[in-house]
Amino acid sequence: MKEKKKVILSGMRPTGKLHIGHYVGALENWVQLQNEYQNYHLIADYHVLTTNLDTSNIFNDTIDMLIDWIATGIDTSKSPVFRQSQIKEHTELFLIFSMLITKARLEKNPALKEQIRDLNLQSITYGHLGYPVLQASDILLYKGEYVPVGEDQVPHIEITRHIASLFNERYKLENNKEIFPIPEPKLTKFSRLPGLDGKAKMSKSLGNTILISDDLDIIKNKMRKAFTDPNKLRKGDKGNPDICLVYTYHKKFNATEQTDIYNGCSSGQLGCVDCKMKISEKIANFFSNIREKRKELEANKEKVLNILEEGESKAREVAQKTMSEVREAMKIG
Ligand code: SF4
Repeated sequence: MKEKKKVILSGMRPTGKLHIGHYVGALENWVQLQNEYQNYHLIADYHVLTTNLDTSNIFNDTIDMLIDWIATGIDTSKSPVFRQSQIKEHTELFLIFSMLITKARLEKNPALKEQIRDLNLQSITYGHLGYPVLQASDILLYKGEYVPVGEDQVPHIEITRHIASLFNERYKLENNKEIFPIPEPKLTKFSRLPGLDGKAKMSKSLGNTILISDDLDIIKNKMRKAFTDPNKLRKGDKGNPDICLVYTYHKKFNATEQTDIYNGCSSGQLGCVDCKMKISEKIANFFSNIREKRKELEANKEKVLNILEEGESKAREVAQKTMSEVREAMKIG
């Protein structure tokens, strides 16, 4: 008998066109995992509201992001893609879970503390505090067993594990069967690509990104301003590639020449302008097929919408089944 594939839930907030940090930190990994696992890909549109109440562009941002997902190689016939807001069961399970976890446990979440500090928030909403609870419902509705995340997201998965245990201890099906698996984080190997300004993370809000859709000219322009070793002012000066973000990009997108770049920089033989132009070409080449594919999809939005509708229908079926088990175990309805 064919063994049932383990389930992975992964998702992103719809923030429009994706950058190459998204590719390195998530998409590349999702594509690799899709043959071995049953993947579900969530478009976390309700999660956007925790930090941004302006929803005027959320649909366009969703489609732009989805185009990047598909162009990158997500096989939507195997791995459903769907919006959180279109599967009502997410909010229903969120409500039930929010009765199980304490406010104190949520306030202890280090990821939340970090976000409050980074975004300089004076206060947070009830929904923002409960964001990991909604995330738990996103994962557990599909009985997710693994969640691909970066280190910074591990505390959220801890909360999901805690909630799943609390529910399983209290409510069981007639045959004493527990409903939810206890999911595990699946750490990505190369989970963060630094931004062009040298900040640890590439992020649209910091304006330090290279988009997957950027062509060579745009990449070159952006790369010109990229942060390098400040002590290497001209060709001939010896540089330190270990503190240069351009070298980080070489390691990822130009691995075969990585040693030459390292030696050229350290000896002074390689100048920063040449080094930056070289990596720009490598990045543009790396994403050229994806850019072509995304152009085709942009010209055929109907196809993209059909994919989304199909994904939502598949996801809804699974979510409804889980919720009927939840209601049965809780003897509600
Ligand atoms: S030569 Fe390349 S690796 Fe060295 S400092 Fe300049 S941009 Fe960075």
